[in-house]
Amino acid sequence: MLPFWRCGCCAPSGFVASPVDGAGSGIRRPDSAGPVDAGLLGDLVAANRILADQGVLDGYGHVSIRHPAKADHFILSRSLAPALVRRADLMEFASDSEPVAGETRLSYLERYIHGEIYRARPDVMAVVHSHSPSVIPFGISRTPMQALFHMSGFLAQGVPIFDIREKFGFTDMLISNNAMGAALAQALAGKPVALMRGHGNVVVGSTIQEVVYRAIYTEENARLQKLAMGLEGPLTYLSPEEGARADATVMKTIARPWELWKARVSVE
Ligand code: MN
Repeated sequence: MLPFWRCGCCAPSGFVASPVDGAGSGIRRPDSAGPVDAGLLGDLVAANRILADQGVLDGYGHVSIRHPAKADHFILSRSLAPALVRRADLMEFASDSEPVAGETRLSYLERYIHGEIYRARPDVMAVVHSHSPSVIPFGISRTPMQALFHMSGFLAQGVPIFDIREKFGFTDMLISNNAMGAALAQALAGKPVALMRGHGNVVVGSTIQEVVYRAIYTEENARLQKLAMGLEGPLTYLSPEEGARADATVMKTIARPWELWKARVSVE
C-alpha cells in the first residue's frame, strides 16, 4: 500500500519506516497534518506539568494526544522531562511513531507505546505512560490491582499485566519499537489501564482530562490498596457494575479536579 502523501506515479517501491526523516534513503517522511487548536495544545502542556506535579511522571514518562485532524498522527513532546514541557516542545508523529517530515529534534525512546495504542484503539484520544511508583509492585506480583473506591471505578474493568519477556525474551524492559508497542496494545486490549511488569503502566482516555484523571487515581488506588491489604480481610472491592456506575458519575464533574490541578502549575 502506498503512503498517503504519494501518488502512484512517483511512489517508491517500498515504504521504509525509519530512519527518521528518511535520511539518506531518499524516502520522504509523511507531512504534518496541519496546525492544532491552541487550547488543546495548552491542555497537553498542562497535562505534562500536572502529572509531574502530582507525582505520576518524574524525569521520565510522557503524555500524548491523538491529532484531531488526522487519526493516525499524534502529538507528544520532544525528549524532555514533563515538568519542563512548553508548547514549542511539542512534536507531531506519524502512524509509525516516527516524526513527520522536517522534524529533527530528539524523540522519546518509547514513543511506540503511543502510536501502537492509537492504531489499536480508535476510541482512545490520549495516552499516558508512567513509572508511577505505587503501581510498580502490582506489576510484579500475583496480587491483582482492584478498584477500592469510587474515584478509581474505571479499574473495576480489570487491570491486565504486560510482560515484555513473554514475546521478546530478556530485554532492557523498554518499548523501543513498533512490535513491542503493538504487543503492549494487545495486552491492554479494551481496558483503560495496563501494568508493565518491572517497568510501569500505560493509561488511556477519551480526552486529555480523562487520561490525566485516570493516571492520578491509578497511582492513588495502588497506594491505598497496599494500605488496605495490611488490614483485616477479606477486602471488598468495587464490582464491575459499581465501578462503571461510579465512573460515569465522577466523569460528569471531571472539570473540577482538572482546574485545581491546572492552577498548581504554570502553562507557557
Ligand atoms: Mn518507560
